[in-house]
Amino acid sequence: MTRPEPLPLGARLGILGSGQLGRMSAMAAARLGLRPHVFGPEGDGPGMQVAAARTVAAYEDAAALRAFAAAVDVVTFEFENVPAATLAALEGRVECRPGLKALATCQDRVREKRFLEGAGVPVAPWREVRDLDGLRAAVAELGLPAVLKTTRMGYDGRGQAVIRAPAEAEAAFARLAPHPLVLEAFVPFTHELSAVAARGADGALAVYEASENRHVGGILDVSLVPADIPPAAAAEARRLVGRVAEGLELVGVVALEMFLLPDGRLLANEIAPRPHNSGHWTMDACACSQFEQHVRAVAGWPLGPVARHAAAVEMRNLIGPEGLAAWPGFLGRADAACHWYGKAEARPGRKLGHVNLLRG
Ligand code: AMP
Repeated sequence: MTRPEPLPLGARLGILGSGQLGRMSAMAAARLGLRPHVFGPEGDGPGMQVAAARTVAAYEDAAALRAFAAAVDVVTFEFENVPAATLAALEGRVECRPGLKALATCQDRVREKRFLEGAGVPVAPWREVRDLDGLRAAVAELGLPAVLKTTRMGYDGRGQAVIRAPAEAEAAFARLAPHPLVLEAFVPFTHELSAVAARGADGALAVYEASENRHVGGILDVSLVPADIPPAAAAEARRLVGRVAEGLELVGVVALEMFLLPDGRLLANEIAPRPHNSGHWTMDACACSQFEQHVRAVAGWPLGPVARHAAAVEMRNLIGPEGLAAWPGFLGRADAACHWYGKAEARPGRKLGHVNLLRG
């Protein structure tokens, strides 16, 4: 289905997924005068708490999906692990932005890498792995160290194992099999970067500055803007994410995670066809955040400005019990813009909120 007209004020924006990204998208939609309707399995998820309407149901619940499609004017999703079948069930009934192509491409690391290569976006050398012999052959071809990853459902460093010596291959395989796997050459990066692009329903593109991302235990810890990298690399990062948005024909926002090599080249790691944790800095350092851009694009509205209004911003994730303990300290700081997601439990490794520390 195509809907050429921009949605009117008061239109109903359906969001699949009730986590923090759905929450912040819903809040942006409400601020712009749209009515967010969140669909997800958790009745008290962060997105549910701020929605104008809710459907608490499994992603496979066909009757609930039909009713949802009839109750909203457009559908988006907050994370790429929404089953492709869910979006397929909705697509004939209601406009879905981004559509199935972007979702299906980014759900599967092999499809994602093929897409990136086809779009002229460089990736680290990789091999599909179907069995242990295949892994041994891939190790021989790519060399070590290398990273073995599940092709689907991996996030925050889950579903992957670094192989440093041939003897480690079997244990890594045993840990991650029977899932389909991919082996990647280990990238000796100097920096991890990402950039977020928005693409409007009319094809217009707006690309934010790249951020430098630092991870702890595979989970994003801080994002720094401006990134302390050569200007040419920063410009290239923005160009590459724009190419991804166009190649996916995506309407909404997309983030591209990249590695910066010592020689200044960039390799793409992963695409997120949605607002991304590393783009949270835009909430307080830009007039139009990544969430607002996403809502604008999905609603068929003009995209907003991407300029940064702070000299620098450091986005810090608040994770697990330590994040909960740190929260009160940030509330009293003059440089901190504080965001809490409303999750019921502060389990270790769980993203509970973030702060944007603004300078200048
Ligand atoms: P991912 O789940 O693919 O985003 O990977 C999580 C983190 O693992 C990345 O942010 C990197 O820090 C690290 N990583 C993933 N793939 C590689 C690789 N091929 N080489 C080096 N480090 C990697």
